[in-house]
Amino acid sequence: MTHKVTVSIVGLGQMGAALARAYIDAGHPVTVWNRTPGKAEPFQGQANVAATPEQACGASDLTIVSLSDYEASDQVLRTPLVAAAAKGRTLVQLTSGTPGDARSGAAWASSLGIDYLDGCILAYPSYIGGEQTAVFYSGPRDLYERHQSTLRVIGGATSHVGEPIGAAAALDCALLSSYYGATLAVLQGAAICASESFPLDAYFEKFQAITPLISITADMCKKMLSTGNFKGTDCTLDIHTNAIRHIVRLNRENSVDGRLPELALAYFERALQLGHGSDEIAAVFNALHGPARR
Ligand code: NAP
Repeated sequence: MTHKVTVSIVGLGQMGAALARAYIDAGHPVTVWNRTPGKAEPFQGQANVAATPEQACGASDLTIVSLSDYEASDQVLRTPLVAAAAKGRTLVQLTSGTPGDARSGAAWASSLGIDYLDGCILAYPSYIGGEQTAVFYSGPRDLYERHQSTLRVIGGATSHVGEPIGAAAALDCALLSSYYGATLAVLQGAAICASESFPLDAYFEKFQAITPLISITADMCKKMLSTGNFKGTDCTLDIHTNAIRHIVRLNRENSVDGRLPELALAYFERALQLGHGSDEIAAVFNALHGPARR
């Protein structure tokens, strides 16, 4: 019989509860802890319910932390009792934060002899355990490889994205920046439809007409950003900028909140000022990158 690694889950919010459930279902001996004890109730009989975070951290080879943010995580973890309990064990931080948060967490752990990985889950809790569910980790590669099979319980598309501890959070923030920007843009499009009494069902039905274009454009950006050559034959920045001007005008005419396309227009016009009018859309990167602009 294969020995299953003991796993503790600190935090039983939406995500932590899904993580605990996945490890229980996979046959791991699981210990859980949550600040509000009621959220641990459903796990009675299936997991060991710890009374304190230090009990949880001391109960398993691997402790996975999933709390709202680093402020909460620091309150829970940065105590002498947790430090003593976690020493010599592995802590996997799945609380979302910045690369700086990850560096601070790793420095704390290293000073106490705790092995530490930082990770980011790119999925909703209901997708935990799925073959396609992506989770990125950063930190020592040998530590990741030691725990890889246990970490794969969370998602089949688990990968190590770099030794620098901030790498996973950097990638997470970059991808989430696309996700939130795109989601806001989807909703802004819906607001335009509503302002013209265009049926929202039809808007969402036709949505797949634009999604391939976003992927194609991302591929183009990848190529052009690697060479710094923005010359192409698809569509000039002058023409793209005109399209955004129409959208800004429509929003004004229909009294729709147009701050999102106005912001896009400001960046595109900045790229035009930088001389990219006849270049492809990827050239807008030069208006975004570098020192903060007013
Ligand atoms: P959630 O349902 O709001 O749960 C938050 C958890 O943090 C709860 O267990 C809560 O305990 C605990 N907590 C908050 N402040 C605390 C404090 N001061 N001391 C002790 N515990 C505290 O959030 P979630 O959706 O599970 O998200 C957890 C993490 O996963 C976040 O960093 C989030 O960004 C990340 N994540 C979430 C998703 C998602 O789709 N939900 C996807 C990817 C990543 P109580 O029960 O006592 O309030």
